[in-house]
Amino acid sequence: MQIVSTINEVRAQVKEWKREGLIVGFVPTMGYLHEGHASLMKRARLDCDKVVASIFVNPMQFGANEDLDSYPRDLEADAKLCESIGVDLIFHPEVEEMYADGFCSFVDMNGLTKELCGKSRPIHFRGVCTVVSKLFHIVTPDKAFFGQKDAQQLAVIRRMVKDLNMDIEVVGCPIVREEDGLAKSSRNTYLNEEERKAALILSKTIRLGEKLAEDGMTNAKELVAAMKENLEKEPMAKIDYVEAVSMDTIEKVDKIEGNVLVAMAVYIGKTRLIDNFIIGGEKNADTGIEK
Ligand code: AMP
Repeated sequence: MQIVSTINEVRAQVKEWKREGLIVGFVPTMGYLHEGHASLMKRARLDCDKVVASIFVNPMQFGANEDLDSYPRDLEADAKLCESIGVDLIFHPEVEEMYADGFCSFVDMNGLTKELCGKSRPIHFRGVCTVVSKLFHIVTPDKAFFGQKDAQQLAVIRRMVKDLNMDIEVVGCPIVREEDGLAKSSRNTYLNEEERKAALILSKTIRLGEKLAEDGMTNAKELVAAMKENLEKEPMAKIDYVEAVSMDTIEKVDKIEGNVLVAMAVYIGKTRLIDNFIIGGEKNADTGIEK
């Protein structure tokens, strides 16, 4: 496995692979890798001849008061995990390699970013779209793998690829959870023992929402209200949002029909955690939670 930090090195290697007619898969990450990231890499390993993973904590997608500086990093452990899965190349650039002096071009999106995380993190998706576009131009993958854990991001990337005619297949992968249900996240490391226990309210509420929908609740407001009521039972939880939106447009829905994403962001102490489930249509969530 190669670990490279320059754009030129990635380009040279991928060009060689493409000359040989090999299919290149790509998994963009911010590192501090866990089994959620691993599941994307394993899927890429199965689907593609060569697998590239990027590890880059992208400053552009963090707001001024967010956790850019404290975001956990551990390249050594990340490299071990990637190696064990059979990743062929890790791209781990410095910020200066990605954003040269005078950088002033952005990829932004008007739709899909007004609700959910876009509301409380107004510059987030501009940063995500810009860095993912750049990474796509650098790596030129045939397929790119994203987790449903960040369902709005998955929808945004799918839209961007379609709108900008990028010749890349976007593959969505199910949420990987801890044994007790908590969605795996690099940010779980911020939680102390008490907060870790309290954080279970998210997956419990996802399970409740899934059950209500399965039992036939079709009124989105009622579903969201029931989920909020459940979250409020946990004194350490502070709701950022719970919403039911169309999976394709990320616009609020009144009725649960078609492909609906029910998503939440909840603060446990200072840590903001997200979780979601998808109802109907192209449901690809295997929540791993005992029903
Ligand atoms: P991040 O490092 O948080 O930017 O995540 C990189 C990729 O891993 C994104 O596509 C995420 O959606 C995905 N991912 C993160 N956590 C999980 C999880 N628990 N299950 C599945 N995919 C995940």
